[in-house]
Amino acid sequence: MLNGSVVSKGIGIGIAKVISSKGNEVMSNEEYIAAISDMKPGAVLVASRLTPYLVGLLKDYSIAGLVCENGGMASHSALVAKSMGIPAVYDVVRATEEIADGDTVIVDGSNGYVYERPDPEIVASYSAKRKKYLADLEELKGYRNLKTVMADGTEASVLCNASDILSVMHAIDEGGEGIGLFRTENLLSGEGRIPDEEEQTRVYSRIVSAMKGKEVTVRTLDIGGDKSLPFLDLEKEDNPFLGYRGVRYSLGHRDIFTTQLRAILRASAGGNLSIMIPMVTCIEEMRNIKSLIHEIKSDLRDEGFDFNDDIKVGATIETPSAAIMADKLAGECDFFSIGTNDLIQYVMSADRGNSRVAYLQSVTQPSILRLMKHIFDSAKTAGIEVSVCGEAASDPEVIPILAGFGCRKFSVNPLSVSEVRRTLSEWSVEDARKLSSDILKIPVDQEIRDHIHKIYKERKL
Ligand code: PEP
Ligand code: MG
Repeated sequence: MLNGSVVSKGIGIGIAKVISSKGNEVMSNEEYIAAISDMKPGAVLVASRLTPYLVGLLKDYSIAGLVCENGGMASHSALVAKSMGIPAVYDVVRATEEIADGDTVIVDGSNGYVYERPDPEIVASYSAKRKKYLADLEELKGYRNLKTVMADGTEASVLCNASDILSVMHAIDEGGEGIGLFRTENLLSGEGRIPDEEEQTRVYSRIVSAMKGKEVTVRTLDIGGDKSLPFLDLEKEDNPFLGYRGVRYSLGHRDIFTTQLRAILRASAGGNLSIMIPMVTCIEEMRNIKSLIHEIKSDLRDEGFDFNDDIKVGATIETPSAAIMADKLAGECDFFSIGTNDLIQYVMSADRGNSRVAYLQSVTQPSILRLMKHIFDSAKTAGIEVSVCGEAASDPEVIPILAGFGCRKFSVNPLSVSEVRRTLSEWSVEDARKLSSDILKIPVDQEIRDHIHKIYKERKL
């Protein structure tokens, strides 16, 4: 048996299709498309390294599972696999050497196990486990159209992360109460060029009208790190995650940024739209952005365009600096959304896409939990709302901790909406607070997880 990081739940059983790229190289798109062209429906794809784009291509193949040697559970490649509902395990060392084309493979996305050439008894036990998993999915459907209410009646909400119109439709189908994070990188890369203001306005307006008054938070371009747009002149950097990313790129490319902000503002005339700024590290950035938005509003007014003058402008809290400064930053923001994927990467100094440091990519590291508590407390004092939009927001073991810190808004992959809603329904605010205050006293990640497991066992959840 091999093991790796859990990316996407579910159990896949199928015949392996192994694709190995040499060393650390990502295969070119053409090589990859040629390599998977004969892959049969129901196969388990075993690959050494995959970009988000390459994972996206798998939608045409109905595969049973995905095993990847590299990537990291919070890499964008992994997030795409999760959003597609493919049972997936990443960071599986030597998978493409241990597994051969044609082997039977079981992918257990619930615990990160991968069985190569399993004995018949294991196949039988996994067939039963798969049935149980599918029955649980059926039960979860009952939560799709319910309100999100905690066990003591406290109301909360589960929104969705989306990155294109299709995922917005998916969010609606799954009962999402809004779009808590609309990633615009996909949208802006679709045509091989940045869409102009009219085109962007049309897309944002479509999302707003599809959500029928429910809130939509559009995140401005978060380019850099592991996300690049091939047609932009992004220079190769030695440390791209610490480089010209997110708001830094936007502030340095006023033309692109202004076009996007104008389009979001124009679309805000038609519904409940907010602007979220990624990769904020300091107060100056928020002040610069707010003055830019002020100028853009004045231009739009002069040009006779409608927009929501009270549009909310918030920050993704995903850098240590923003988190530490949350008490002051709150004065410059209308809301915060905690991006745990990057926050963990930066606080733990562990690249979210590097499998060798995947063990440090844990939201239950005490440093992360303490910082999150500080963010929630700071926002509460300032009277602004905080949501969580990183992957931690859909982890059933972490949800009560977040709720205990005061989180009432969770933004997750559409496929996770019902499970998050069910988990919240099982916890009262008082119990969640007790759990979160107890775990804050524990200084070791594994001991925190052990404590949560113990509580879950006692509560028979
Ligand atoms: C995050 O960093 O947690 C986040 C939600 O944004 P992304 O995964 O797109 O970086
Ligand atoms: Mg991020």
